[in-house]
Parts: sequence; structure tokens; C-alpha cells
Amino acid sequence: MAKIAVIGTGYVGSVSGACLADFGNHVICVDTDNEKIEALKKGIIPIYEPGLDAVVARNIACGRLSFSTDIAFAAKESDIIFIAVSTPPADDGSADLAYVETAARQIGSLIEKYTVIVNKSTVPVGTARKVISWVSDEITKRGLSTEFDVVSNPEFLREGTAVYDSTHPDRVVIGSESERARNIMKDVYRSLYLNETPYIETNLESAEMIKYASNAFLAVKITFINEISNLCEKTGADIRAVAKAMGKDGRIGSKFLHPGPGYGGSCFPKDTRAIAKIGRNNDEILHIVEAAIEANENQKLRAAKKIESVLGSLSGKTIALLGLSFKPNTDDMRESPAITICEYLANRGAHLRLYDPAAMKSAQWRLKALEKSAYYAVDEYDAANSADALVIVTEWNQFRNLDLYKVKELLASPYFFDLRNIYKKQEAVAGGLKYFGIGNSDK
Ligand code: NAD
Repeated sequence: MAKIAVIGTGYVGSVSGACLADFGNHVICVDTDNEKIEALKKGIIPIYEPGLDAVVARNIACGRLSFSTDIAFAAKESDIIFIAVSTPPADDGSADLAYVETAARQIGSLIEKYTVIVNKSTVPVGTARKVISWVSDEITKRGLSTEFDVVSNPEFLREGTAVYDSTHPDRVVIGSESERARNIMKDVYRSLYLNETPYIETNLESAEMIKYASNAFLAVKITFINEISNLCEKTGADIRAVAKAMGKDGRIGSKFLHPGPGYGGSCFPKDTRAIAKIGRNNDEILHIVEAAIEANENQKLRAAKKIESVLGSLSGKTIALLGLSFKPNTDDMRESPAITICEYLANRGAHLRLYDPAAMKSAQWRLKALEKSAYYAVDEYDAANSADALVIVTEWNQFRNLDLYKVKELLASPYFFDLRNIYKKQEAVAGGLKYFGIGNSDK
């Protein structure tokens, strides 16, 4: 049974820690946020992540999983320490490594025996080598020569399906220069390894690059279909048919071919900016990624401008928005397109009636500057009540089957903007609504 500490219990650390315990390891999850740790100790999950509560409860009960704010205790008890802290964007687009450096230095100042330090945070190529020097620095300061290895093990989980993704990953990537560390990592992921999950061993730089290249590719794919969708609106083509037929081509695949108001979240925006910056730093401009970043900003605004172009002046209008998280099944609103759309509408004098099944708390914080313009509704129908338009921003399942007659009765004007194409125009029109989907020339 490997003895593991996970530093950082956010969206990645809490899921990874719980799933590593589920694989049979002994795991202590550490965070500086006392409130988070106290909640987790009681089995209360501070984020919205379906299924995580059951994995946490099961592993606490059998004694394999615990939570603590005491990093010194966790380091002492463990042979392997995962770093899963945030790497937010700095002003120039690069990843801010301050949290990673702090964690690495803390580890260096604490370890007393050979330890494998595993970086799970998404970090620029070259960071593992910085981690080696930060840890060495701290060990040297103590007059010791404790041995350690650094492994790069990027995380590919998706919020909303994070538990499934962690227990059924498409691949495990291990970047390492040490056979000793590689063998220990095989033990950590033994149940996946034996299950024949693709297990890719490579050097540190490649592992770091794999994560950024994968996210940048997906962001480009979304952006591509968004631009084709915009072109469909001008040419009489229908993006639903276009995307469906494109997706049938095995070389293209149907995933990530759904147009919408731009990508958001804690990963794609920051990771595309970070890899673009790495490209510029190395005199290798990533033209496609740079273009996707710009196109995505335009896409978010395009959605808001479309609403304005249909409704005319927004001053004094009331607009209901459903779905504020950057995608369904998470409460995460980091860089959500809903933020750009809400800001655009409110800045032009609109009143907002907002509803999200999980992100209401995040919304009240992230949209604090708009608080005079925003009403937080109790459900989707309360949001629609007396509004001049209803906008589906994020396609939560519960918005897929709205009672459109009831919506029509509640709205002051029957404008219905479906930014995710989850309704058919005919059904909305039959319900008495004026329907505006995306990616076709229906007006
Ligand atoms: P997060 O902000 O949700 O969580 C980070 C946690 O680390 C916080 O709880 C914070 O209090 C804690 N922390 C910071 N410094 C600490 C320290 N020195 N000691 C103890 N705790 C500390 O971040 P996240 O979304 O979990 O992302 C973590 C990393 O994983 C990022 O690099 C991100 O890019 C990457 N990633 C995220 C996702 C995702 O879907 N969220 C997916 C794959 C990879």
C-alpha cells in the first residue's frame, strides 16, 4: 500500500486523492483552507462534483483517506507527495507558479527520507526542473542531502465527470528520469496499469507538453466548429447537419463539435494562453492557438451582441439567463462565457434574472460587480418570470425539457435564445416562442 500525500484539495486534488485511496493507497489530502478540510473530514464535499461524496465516504470509512491542514505530518507519513495546487494565469498569460513553488519548497523543507514528488498541476514545460531546484534548495538549506525524484503526472479529468475520468482515464502519463520513481508510480496506479489503461512513460518535458497540447487541441476544435457555425448563419447551411456529418468521419470524431458561446472554465482559457506564451518565449508562434484565443473572446461577445441585435436597446430590458457555470454538472464559473454575457448585457442597462442548478454561490461572488442589476432566481421558471427574453447559456439537463408553454406564459416577450441548440425551432415556435438557435440562418 503506497503512502501518499496530496497537496491541494480543489477540483483536482480532492478527486485524485479520493480515487488514489480507492485504488488501495493510503492517502492524506492537505490544504491550507481550514474550512475546506473541516468539511471534507465530515464527508461534506465543498465543490459540486457528482459521485465524489460516495468515494470520499467509502475511503474515510475504511481508513485509507484522511484530510489535514498539517503538511508536516502528511509529509512525514508519506513516501509520495502529489502537488495539485492551482496555477492561475499571470497578467502576461503565463502560468503563475507561485503556489507550486510554495508547495515544492514546503516539501523540501520537510522530507526526511527518499520521496517521490509528483506534479499534477498543469505547468509550463520546464517546471519539473524548477521543482527539482526548489526542493534541492530547501534540503541544502537544512544541511541535508535527502534523496528525491520529481515526476510529471498531468491530470486530464473533466469537472462533472471527474470521478469516472480518474478511475477510467484514457491514458496515464508519467514523465520521469528515474527508474526508481517510475516503479513506484506503477504501484500507485497498479489497478489501472493491470487493467491495461494506456500507460505512457516519457521524459519530464514531454509529459508537461502533453497536457498543454491536448487542451490546446480541444480548445482549437471547439473554436473551429464555432467559426463554422458562425459561417453557417450567413450562408444558409445548418451547423447541426454540418457537425453531425463531419463527426461521422473517423478522422475527425464527433466529440467537441458542438457550437456554443465559446469555451470557458479553469483549464482551456488559461492553458491556451500559457502554451501560446511558451511558444512566443521560444520564438515559435503557435498561430492556430493564438487565433483560437482571439476567436473565443469574440465568440462570447457574439452571443451577447446577438441578443442585443434582436431585442434592440437593452436599457431597461429584463433578461433571464439559465446556466452560469462554464459547463453543466459543475459549480465552476471560472472564465465562464456567462460572465462575459452578463457583463455585456448589464453594462448596457439590462436587468438580469439568473439561475443555475449549482453555481448560484459562485455567481453571487463572480458577478458581484453586477449586483444592482442581478436577481438570483429560485429556479428556471422564476428566472423567466416577466423577462423580455430567456437565454440558455449552459445546457444543464434540467433545461433540456422546459415546459415551453409555461415559459411563454411567464415571459413578458417571447424571445428564446438557445445558445447550445438543445431545442428544435419547431417545438419552440409551437410553444409560442420566437426561437433563436445558433449556426443556421433561421431568423
Ligand atoms: P483549485 O483552485 O480548485 O484547488 C487548489 C487548492 O490548492 C486550493 O484548495 C488551495 O487552497 C490549495 N493550495 C494552494 N497552495 C497550497 C499549499 N501550499 N498547501 C496546501 N494547499 C494549497 O484548483 P484545481 O482546479 O484543482 O486545479 C489544480 C491544478 O490542476 C491546476 O494546475 C489546474 O490547471 C489543473 N487541472 C485542473 C482541472 C480541472 O478541471 N479543474 C483538470 C486538470 C488539471
